[in-house]
Amino acid sequence: MWKNALTVLLLVGLWSGLGWGSPALAEDARTIATTELVAPSPNTPLKPGQWIEGTDFERVQRPFTIQRLTERVYWVEVAGYESTVVVGDQGVMVIDAPCCGRVPTYLAAIRELTDLPVTTLVYSHYHLDHVAGAKEYLSDAESAGRSLRIVANRTTGAQIEKFGNKIPAPTELVSVPRGTFEFEGRKVVMGTPSTGHTIDNSWILLEEDRVLHSVDLVHPGVLEFMNFGVAEDLDGYEKSVRELLTLEWDFLCAGHSNVGNQEDVQLVLDYVADIRRYTGQAMGSTEFQPFVQEGTIFYEWIAGFRDAVIDKTVSLMRPRWAQYTGFDVVIRSHAERMFFETYLH
Ligand SMILES: [Zn+2]
Repeated sequence: MWKNALTVLLLVGLWSGLGWGSPALAEDARTIATTELVAPSPNTPLKPGQWIEGTDFERVQRPFTIQRLTERVYWVEVAGYESTVVVGDQGVMVIDAPCCGRVPTYLAAIRELTDLPVTTLVYSHYHLDHVAGAKEYLSDAESAGRSLRIVANRTTGAQIEKFGNKIPAPTELVSVPRGTFEFEGRKVVMGTPSTGHTIDNSWILLEEDRVLHSVDLVHPGVLEFMNFGVAEDLDGYEKSVRELLTLEWDFLCAGHSNVGNQEDVQLVLDYVADIRRYTGQAMGSTEFQPFVQEGTIFYEWIAGFRDAVIDKTVSLMRPRWAQYTGFDVVIRSHAERMFFETYLH
């Protein structure tokens, strides 16, 4: 377990060079203003609206962090990636199987909660960083002579096939845009907006527990990941985030960063609305002609115009948003993404 924890720690060490999981985090004004911080606990359920204390860097010093959400449902984080874990009477359901050596640590974390085996795995979407660990869950089951049920929506099944992802194929496909399945009598609802982070990214709602699992859309406690999580469709991304507010839940397992609530979702929508508005303003007040220079090619004219618009957008965003964690790490990538969104659509 420790060797694996070390492997993922080393990976995170590499990623932190890209600004992700950086320890140099500014205090979040909103944290101080409205969010109660509590020490993570596998025993005491979180109350709606509470966050787990500690920075990404502090949490990654431990092999895993477990937070109980309800009687049967837990938020489990290993080296910056999170799964929702549901402990049933006969087995355990896990949502998402993060990559790169994390699953043995996940299995160790689950053993802290129960001796029951993992019987059901759910894929939120096809991105390998969130599901490539499925092979390890499958081999763990097979070595004990058990099968593993793997649930995904139909579009995820198709994306895995399309990209030839070398991960276990789902054994059960849920209909899109909305379908349900059961885990030991618990109803699980799966919704799949048609575009957004990816064309198959789904939210997974444990209705009875009021726990929502939806990854790579909202990062509670930090501004969004660079380039809005490399969203395939920025307009669809915004719609997907908005859809989360139409559902009934108390806790969001967002895949990265803290446990989320509705305020965290609304904050992302406010941020996107501001950067869209300011990018439009910046573009409207920037002339293209000065960038057309003899001896340079068209690409350079566009790049100069783009950079001038980005500089203005960042200045306009700074007064409200610089107080939020990660602003200087992500703002230029967001402004560039919104530049092309505004320029092209
Ligand atoms: Zn993803």
